[in-house]
Amino acid sequence: MLEAHGLWKKFGDFQALKGVDFTLETGELVFIIGPSGSGKSTLLRCLNRLEEPSDGVVIFEGVDLMDRNVDINLMRRRIGMVFQQFNLYPHLNARDNITLALRKVLGKSRSEANAVAEKMLERVGLADKAESHPGALSGGQQQRVAIARALALEPAVMLFDEPTSALDPELVGSVLQVMQQLRDAGMTMVVVSHEMRFARAAADRVIFMADGQILEEGTPEEIFEAPKHQRTREFMAEIG
Ligand code: ATP
Ligand code: MG
Repeated sequence: MLEAHGLWKKFGDFQALKGVDFTLETGELVFIIGPSGSGKSTLLRCLNRLEEPSDGVVIFEGVDLMDRNVDINLMRRRIGMVFQQFNLYPHLNARDNITLALRKVLGKSRSEANAVAEKMLERVGLADKAESHPGALSGGQQQRVAIARALALEPAVMLFDEPTSALDPELVGSVLQVMQQLRDAGMTMVVVSHEMRFARAAADRVIFMADGQILEEGTPEEIFEAPKHQRTREFMAEIG
């Protein structure tokens, strides 16, 4: 449903991606791990063209995203993204953070949008926080609002870039729980994260990146129990 072939990304003279091939099937949860600077975020951002690849193709639901005639905003709506920093609007309460795009982008009425927002907040366990501003929510709650906001646009796939890295350890579980629920509901997901226990429990496939390339990929068992590459073994040892 989402694939990339021969993806290259240059920042000046620096090659952040060096010919990455990536495929994602409907309903799959793919985990991406690898050292800092290996190109994980760049790959995610190229998949919805938040970052413009220097070379290569990205195909989403049969549509070539690099095609100049493609309505990239329409496609992006179908590719939800959640970042390490939640990027909520501080002056809007949880409900309005979710309804903004629904009203401005999808043209829904206020009451329609509110109904969707309430449903999404319930889905992430925050039905009672609709009126709360981000400043009055914990990091874990803010991240769940960000997830609810992405889900409200009914994406076909969700991309997560270190969604729990900015959270205090005791708040990580609540976000992973929501991600697990999404997974159980059949959502197609790509997750960049250091939460290896979650990877073992939830991932269909784990990709190990280093130096802008995919060094190896396999089931969680293959990658965690029997990594083939020395680099993968070193990385596993480092993160313990
Ligand atoms: P981390 O685990 O620290 O998040 P990452 O694997 O997500 O790392 P990327 O953010 O994809 O790594 O970055 C890959 C490389 O590209 C890094 O060396 C980074 O410095 C470089 N890079 C990323 N974005 C830019 C940019 N806008 N301009 C210049 N260099 C960049
Ligand atoms: Mg990153």
